Amino acid sequence: MTKKYIIFKDDDAGKDLSDLKKWIDLLIENDAKGTIGVIGKFLKNKNFSDYLNSLDENKIEIFCHGYSHSYIPFMLRRMIGRNKLLPTEFDRTEKSHSRSLEKFRIAEKRYLKTKAFCFGPPGNEWNKTVVKPLIKNDFKIMFSRRDIPGDIFRIPITKNMSHNNLKDFIEDYKKNKEDVIYTLQFHHADLLDKQFDLLPDIINFLKKEGRVFVTPSELLKSIYKKN
Ligand SMILES: [Zn+2]
Repeated sequence: MTKKYIIFKDDDAGKDLSDLKKWIDLLIENDAKGTIGVIGKFLKNKNFSDYLNSLDENKIEIFCHGYSHSYIPFMLRRMIGRNKLLPTEFDRTEKSHSRSLEKFRIAEKRYLKTKAFCFGPPGNEWNKTVVKPLIKNDFKIMFSRRDIPGDIFRIPITKNMSHNNLKDFIEDYKKNKEDVIYTLQFHHADLLDKQFDLLPDIINFLKKEGRVFVTPSELLKSIYKKN
């Protein structure tokens, strides 16, 4: 039987620490794993980088969620749609994508003990000129809802964590039950108390379903091992 994997992906790490810690503590207490999207410009905050450096990379892996995360606030974006004047950080030009990724690498080298191999663009928006700068900056994996041209391993994003009880989660899960990789996307800053409370139940449910918690790098290794 094919192994089935589960990835917990959390975005926007750096803006606040307490909800991030709360999310990670729950994962660790419940013997799960996850990956957190770090915004490069926040790494200079010592409390934040010290905390990241204290984590076990085999359980909590850091991925690059851009350097500045500059993009139109979600509500505004929904009102005006895609806008050429205010594109997201990775829906610009090859040159600006290179600059962002280089700045991320510089901050990472300065403040972190680990190096990220995975990339997840802010707002999950990107254009194909991002691929060359990613490869040049040694990224091997990318979260994306659509195919990526070039030699980058894609991890699909399956669902957003929007459920308030286990029954709703299970109903929703059933639609993608057969997917080999199931990625549940979180934004720790937006989680409600009841969603934090629900997390252990979701973790247990996924384990009973036979899903194996992995980090992006582990997933890449296990898929290559098989082929
Ligand atoms: Zn984000």
